[in-house]
Amino acid sequence: MELSYILNELGEDRELYFNAVAPPIIQTSNFACKTVAEMREMLKNESDVYFYTRGNNPTITILEKKMAALEGAEHAIAFGSGIAAVSAAVLSQVKAGDHVVCVKKPYSWTNTLMKSFLPRFGVEVTMVDGTDASNYKNALKPNTTLLYLESPNSFTFELQDIEAIVAIARAHNCSTIIDNSFATPLYQNPLAMGVDLVVHSCTKYIGGHSDVMGGIICGKYETINKIFVQEYMTLGAVLDPHAAWLLIRGLRTLPVRMDRIAASTRKVVEYLSQHPKVEQILSPFIENNPQYELAQKQMRSNTGQFTITLKTDDIAKIDLFCDSLKHFLMAASWGGHESLIYPVAASYNTGNYKSSLPFNMIRFFIGLEDPDYLIKDLEQALRKV
Ligand SMILES: *Cc1c(COP(=O)(O)O)cnc(C)c1O
Repeated sequence: MELSYILNELGEDRELYFNAVAPPIIQTSNFACKTVAEMREMLKNESDVYFYTRGNNPTITILEKKMAALEGAEHAIAFGSGIAAVSAAVLSQVKAGDHVVCVKKPYSWTNTLMKSFLPRFGVEVTMVDGTDASNYKNALKPNTTLLYLESPNSFTFELQDIEAIVAIARAHNCSTIIDNSFATPLYQNPLAMGVDLVVHSCTKYIGGHSDVMGGIICGKYETINKIFVQEYMTLGAVLDPHAAWLLIRGLRTLPVRMDRIAASTRKVVEYLSQHPKVEQILSPFIENNPQYELAQKQMRSNTGQFTITLKTDDIAKIDLFCDSLKHFLMAASWGGHESLIYPVAASYNTGNYKSSLPFNMIRFFIGLEDPDYLIKDLEQALRKV
């Protein structure tokens, strides 16, 4: 299916709503039936009909159809946040007594799910360094049912060899889930590499404007339908129709935003990589990265995130550099129009968010601004330290 068709036409029944170009926000919780017979039919098959919005809703269906098509999936199911999608996907693949192998240093709340939430329900988790696929194999136990990937992972952007890990999973009869938020469906398609379920935080690149939250799971029709009647309906972390509408709007411009972000990021990274005060840049798409070849094999492009370490052992200098940036906002998340930094120094040895990463590490996200405007800002902030 062509990308332009997916983003502009797929799932949109314009003749049903006055040929409006933008779909209506069907802001309703309920859908009425005319007869008992009709209601009986609905109840037989709630996952396929419009009956109640914690279930299906026409605006949300448009988003699900487009996301499924973008990932080459049979079906998709939307959630109210990325972590709701991650949690539902993981819970759908485990029961008490099972064992999960998960990549080390995934997204922070995925880490909490694995390390403290699942164990409460008798699910054991082993976290492995995902840069070597054999670590997944060596961690397998007779009761392993799920291998969980996030490639590239958060903050340090290490890759997992997706095809190699899928082969390990298949040989052991395990399922696989990958968090594909970093790469977007434009730049990496794990289902084509044999992964069972792909999850996204739509809050990031899909929405693209830092004004909406959402998540999605893409996979086989049967697997998604099982999630519908279990985790989706019982945990109830549904997307609302207005949020779905904003995400559809975000999708219209996803390719142009990603092109721009990828190109600007290459320019900013090139600038930083020759700067004497920058110690290291972490990004799979830098040629001296040992995983560069794997990145070329399983991804189509870099995106806007990378991490740097500054050459200093003085935390005050990190503070000064970050505080001096005028055009990078200091915030969580990424994927919007605005460039961001997230300094490890903010969570170094403090409170609940204690980080094990070095304090001179700063995560960047490059947004839609002119890259030269950003480079000028980096230049003046680096001069100060
Ligand atoms: C942000 C993020 C999530 C969680 O998404 P929310 O929409 O914030 O719940 C999950 N995975 C990754 C990789 C993320 O960056």
